[in-house]
Amino acid sequence: MMQNQEYNQEVVNLHTHSFYCGHGSGTIEEYVQAASEHGLALLGMSEHCPVPDGRWHRSRMDYSQIEAYEHDCQMAKETAPEGLAVITGYECDYLPEYQGYYREVAERVDYLIGAIHDLSTDLNNEHSVFWHQLSKKDLATYTDMYCDMLSSGLFLFGAHPDLFGYYYHHWDTEAEACSRAIIECAVANNVALEINANGMRKRKVQLDEGWRHPYPLSPFWEIASKYPLQVVTHSDAHKPSLVNEGYEACANIAIENNLQLCSYRVEREQSGNVQISLI
Ligand SMILES: [Zn+2]
Ligand SMILES: [Zn+2]
Repeated sequence: MMQNQEYNQEVVNLHTHSFYCGHGSGTIEEYVQAASEHGLALLGMSEHCPVPDGRWHRSRMDYSQIEAYEHDCQMAKETAPEGLAVITGYECDYLPEYQGYYREVAERVDYLIGAIHDLSTDLNNEHSVFWHQLSKKDLATYTDMYCDMLSSGLFLFGAHPDLFGYYYHHWDTEAEACSRAIIECAVANNVALEINANGMRKRKVQLDEGWRHPYPLSPFWEIASKYPLQVVTHSDAHKPSLVNEGYEACANIAIENNLQLCSYRVEREQSGNVQISLI
C-alpha cells in the first residue's frame, strides 16, 4: 500500500534549523507548531549534518546528538496536527570523502540538501565563505565544489547556489561563468537549485552601484531563466517564527525570471518510509 500526495511550493518549507545546530533556536516541536500556524502542509527539518571526524563542529550539533535529533523528528512526524506532514532531513556540506557517510545517513532519513559553506579541504583549517572577501580563485573553488556536490546524486536540491555573493562583491565575467557552470551542472544532473530567503535577512552588501542582499543574486537567476532549470524556494529558517518567511519575495524572483517553482511528490509506504521527489 502506498499513499501519494503532491504539494505546491507555497505550502512547503524543507529548509529549517533548530537549537540543535547551536546557531539556531527552537525545538522541532515548536517548528511543527509554527508551521501549522502558518498554514504549511509539508515541513522538512534539515539540521546541518555533523560528520564523524567533527569537521565544521562550530556550526553544527555534536555527532553524538544525531540520535536525539532524529528521534525528535520521528516524534514530530507521529504527532503532527491534521493537515501537516513532517519529514526528516539534513543539510550536508559536501566533500567527496563523506560520500559513503552521507549515503548511510540518506537511508535513515527522508531527504538530504547539498550545500557548500567552506572552501577548505583541510580538516584543521576552515575557510568559510562567510569570513573573508572571496578571490577569483575562491570563486572557482566554490564552483568546482558545488558542481561535485550536484553530481553526487545524493541531494534533492542544492541550497543557496549564489551564496558566493555574500563575499564576492563584483558581478564580473568570473561570476557570470561560475553561475553558468553551476546552473548547467544542475540541469545536466536533474537537481533543483534553491532561491534562499535567509540571504534577505542578512546585512546588505554595499557596492559601487548601491546596496544589495548578499544573496539571492538577481543576475544569477537572470542567467537561470535561459535554462530548463528546476527551482525551489525555502526560508532557511533558524527560528520557528521564520518558518515561511520570505516566501513571496523569493517566489517573485522566480516569477520575474520565468522560472517554474517545482512541486513535491511524497510517497508514503506502509512501513512509514517516505520518498520525496520534485515534479
Ligand atoms: Zn545555519
Ligand atoms: Zn541552511
